Parts: sequence; C-alpha cells; structure tokens
Amino acid sequence: MTTIPVPDRYDDWQDEAECRGTELDMWFDDARQAECAAICARCWVVDECLADAVRLETGQTPYGFRGGKTAAQRLKERRAKTRARK
Ligand code: SF4
Repeated sequence: MTTIPVPDRYDDWQDEAECRGTELDMWFDDARQAECAAICARCWVVDECLADAVRLETGQTPYGFRGGKTAAQRLKERRAKTRARK
C-alpha cells in the first residue's frame, strides 16, 4: 500500500492533515470519494489545503480529491472566481 508521503515542499499546516498515512490511491479513485470526504470533513486544515490545491492547479484538468472537494468541484470554484474578477 502506498501512503501519503511527506512532501518536498512543506508547509506547517500539513502537520495537521488528517489524510497523512492514508492510502494514496484512494484520493484518485472516484469510487472512494465519500471515504475521502469523510476524512476531509474532520480535517483541521481543510481551508489551507483547498487554497493550496486551487493555487497549484493552474491547468484545466485538476485531479484527485483534495480540500474536501472533488477535482470537478475545485475546477468549478476556480472558474467562478475567475468570472467574478472580470
Ligand atoms: S482537507 Fe482532506 S486532503 Fe486536505 S489535508 Fe485535510 S484530509 Fe488531506
């Protein structure tokens, strides 16, 4: 089983990530989104994580469950923010 590693780029908030030590593949498996959502729902750093995910996903194809949201939800949120800035 591959687990979530400690990243090279490291921010303090990641110390509190509820997903640390969980199976990496589950975060990229659409069939396990409810399981991921339950973990994110009890995570203290969900706001920081979501902001980081949105900041790093500059393309049109975000991937994986992060920050309590699916990739599609994050893409929709980013597009709404882009529209609001115009
Ligand atoms: S919000 Fe979810 S993906 Fe982000 S650090 Fe917390 S548990 Fe992990």
